[in-house]
Amino acid sequence: MPRFVLIRKIINDPMMPLHNSIDRKVLIENLISETFLRKTISFYRYFILDNPQEFRNQIYREWSEMNCFGRIYVAREGINAQMSVPEEKMTEFLESLKHHQIFDRIPVKYAIEDNGKSFYKLSIKVKSRLVADGLDDDAFDVTNVGKHLDANEFHELVGSGKHVVVDMRNHYESEIGHFKGAICPEADTFREELAMVTELLKDKKDSKLLLYCTGGIRCEKASAYLKHHGFQDVNQLHGGIIEYARSIRLLNLESHFTGKNFVFDERMGESVDGQVIAACHQCGKLCDVHSNCANELCHLLFIQCEECAGRFEKCCSVECREQKNASEEVKLVLRKEADFKFGNRNVYRKSFRLANAENQM
Ligand SMILES: [Zn+2]
Ligand SMILES: [Zn+2]
Repeated sequence: MPRFVLIRKIINDPMMPLHNSIDRKVLIENLISETFLRKTISFYRYFILDNPQEFRNQIYREWSEMNCFGRIYVAREGINAQMSVPEEKMTEFLESLKHHQIFDRIPVKYAIEDNGKSFYKLSIKVKSRLVADGLDDDAFDVTNVGKHLDANEFHELVGSGKHVVVDMRNHYESEIGHFKGAICPEADTFREELAMVTELLKDKKDSKLLLYCTGGIRCEKASAYLKHHGFQDVNQLHGGIIEYARSIRLLNLESHFTGKNFVFDERMGESVDGQVIAACHQCGKLCDVHSNCANELCHLLFIQCEECAGRFEKCCSVECREQKNASEEVKLVLRKEADFKFGNRNVYRKSFRLANAENQM
């Protein structure tokens, strides 16, 4: 059977599952034993989709057929994709994008430090928003974005030291890597970040702002928000730190970004200039590896060195280590207390550093 007939048949097969149903452990084992290479890529675009669910099903069929993995979000406002594609399927994959208007000449970013093991399954979710920002989009024009600067332009302007550089990511991200001299607000969420930046820069409405984030997508919203709030000269790094890192390597430029770029996949981050700028939250030793506390009641995202991981059994504190090892009955009781203690936030904040220091004594 000619190949295109075969593909048509698969695409039209109503029985084809549109979700993964294989156990996580099996999938990870499969990934590890793969004998071919994968490329980790990312791309996004704001684009009005009339039927995000239908579009989602269509790309799910196409991409699972090509054995792609990744975490992809589709919304009425567009797509945000981070994925891995088998190297041998790359040309076919890029070719297939051309069949959808939304991907027309879309810039695809390639990860640096790529072992291709970033994802172990294909997950495509339809969401109400591309970025969960908690903002009321109707309150301002989301398409009135700042000026896009390519990595080179951004590099020059940051290097001049004359402008206001703002990290639009959360604090746990900028903590392990950021542009030198950038303002890195101690925010846990994007919404908090926007409020803090607006307040911090309220006297700098005429300054040239240079915004950046991981892949550029948060800056789309942030720049529109800041322009709405009276900032006159808003600029943003197109393609984000991912594109910057790729570009300076290509051009052999000295990086103005120091440390690691935090990314949301199994790797948790990739180094841009090889420097470690953060410290273990428990012992203070240089370290930039994020982990989640192994106590399921806590699950705190924090930085832990290997030594402390051993000593605390991957927990954030002595207390959490005890909870992790407690019986199910005890855990049930503790659950209420944990809700009270941690609330709905589970990222590291300064107050925990003190708690941990006490626990070590
Ligand atoms: Zn440590
Ligand atoms: Zn914990």
